[in-house]
Amino acid sequence: MSNSTTTAIDLKMYINGEWKAAEGRPTIPVINPANGEVFAQLPQGTVADAKDAIAAARQAFDAGVWSDISAQERSEYLLKIADKIEEYAEELAVLETMDNGKAAGESSADVSDAAACFRYYAGLIKAPDGQTYHVSTDIQAMVVREPVGVCGLIVPWNFPLLMSVWKIAPALAAGNTIVFKPSEVTPVTPQKLIEIIEEVGVPAGVVNMVTGTGAEVGNAIVEHADVDLISFTGGTKTGKHIMKTAADTIKKVSLELGGKSPNIIFEDTDLDTVVEYGLGGIFYGTGQVCSAGSRILVQDTIYDQYVEAFVEGAKKIKVGPGNVEGVEMGPLVSQQHLEKVLGYIEIGKEEGATLAYGGNRIKTDGLENGYFVEPTVFTNVTPDMRIVQEEIFGPVVVIQKFSTEEEAIALANGTVYGLAAGVFTTDGARAMRVIRKMKAGITWINTFGPTFNEAPWGGYKQSGVGRNLGTFGLDEFQEVKQININLQ
Ligand code: NDP
Repeated sequence: MSNSTTTAIDLKMYINGEWKAAEGRPTIPVINPANGEVFAQLPQGTVADAKDAIAAARQAFDAGVWSDISAQERSEYLLKIADKIEEYAEELAVLETMDNGKAAGESSADVSDAAACFRYYAGLIKAPDGQTYHVSTDIQAMVVREPVGVCGLIVPWNFPLLMSVWKIAPALAAGNTIVFKPSEVTPVTPQKLIEIIEEVGVPAGVVNMVTGTGAEVGNAIVEHADVDLISFTGGTKTGKHIMKTAADTIKKVSLELGGKSPNIIFEDTDLDTVVEYGLGGIFYGTGQVCSAGSRILVQDTIYDQYVEAFVEGAKKIKVGPGNVEGVEMGPLVSQQHLEKVLGYIEIGKEEGATLAYGGNRIKTDGLENGYFVEPTVFTNVTPDMRIVQEEIFGPVVVIQKFSTEEEAIALANGTVYGLAAGVFTTDGARAMRVIRKMKAGITWINTFGPTFNEAPWGGYKQSGVGRNLGTFGLDEFQEVKQININLQ
């Protein structure tokens, strides 16, 4: 793969160890969101390509070329992949910024997290597992873990490399084979990852990548009877569709979906600190983060001060192309997504919220052709407004007011989502009380955003089912089997 900007990168699918184009079909242009220019071309795979990839994965699984090798051997492959990610770190980070638009520092952080994730699962798969238990002197009973089989992995565009790794690393560690579909919007670093997997010698058929649209190729993977599991990260609407489709063949399904995560600020906190965390919580990744702190709930006694300081902070955020030194917030990922986010800003105004800052597309200073939006702050919102209830997935925050702890908890839990939540207070007992009441899978006290390979990532309510990362993330890719041995 060449990363020259003058010649578009020619992407391919990877099926049964072969790189291939989509025969007889136009390619899908991949656009750099910072300037609107096409910089890669993606094969528009067909249902037949998806079926070929599934057949290759099935054959590889049933032949045991991956599932039957020792955990030690698989672990060594994973470590080699981690090494290669580090070797190509600079190139991967540059490509990630071209593909998704994110600031260079964010791309670099994603690349090093990706390597660390492979290392984590390389270690975990060698840890003791299984159980034995006493049922009677006549029977020796035990539980062993086995790979699930062929895993369909479908990932979104907001963390193209890292979301791919969060699924591929544990799926491979557990001994599964894979049919992988990156987002058609951001397929470039996922392809580079597959090239690395090929380079370290993972056998043909173990990892397959089909590209194209979710509606065609993604759906074909979800429908197919030879796929045993679907692990998906993306929008809640798509997640619902996937869950229904997968029901026909009773697949294991793991879904990491949207959020509208609350960040609760009590009056007994340091203003500068909580404003800083609030800004980072929503504007990191241009707000295109499932766990973004898109609702900030502030105690009424400090509300006005908080809003004033937050708006001052938002004004200082340097927006621009992610590859420009000092840029803190890049563009939105696509024209389509830009329109969605601007549409929500209009909805907020029509609903009667106060636009305290931002709200516009930025079309000055060389940013004319990119998908840049100002950091946007709404205040004076009510819980029923769509901008409070629905995931916007952009640099748009609502700042809500509460007076009591009980009210903060009720507001925080008052959406269909339950991905993440944060609370800031110097009262330790209150912090614990509030966090225990949060209907959310990922929570933070006096911080907002840190993520660890060791800890489960996923949501309550309509934010999903199942978990990525940690031991729980490995469990998703394993079956458990009881074995009972007659001792007589
Ligand atoms: P989607 O959920 O549609 O896309 C995520 C992945 O699913 C992509 O690879 C997509 O393919 C694929 N996909 C789409 N439809 C199907 C289908 N029927 N069967 C199987 N796979 C499918 O996200 P969008 O890009 O449409 O974004 C919509 C909204 O979702 C965002 O505005 C945001 O609110 C939310 N979102 C949440 C994310 C999260 O991290 N939780 C990540 C991304 C989006 P392709 O795009 O290639 O067609």
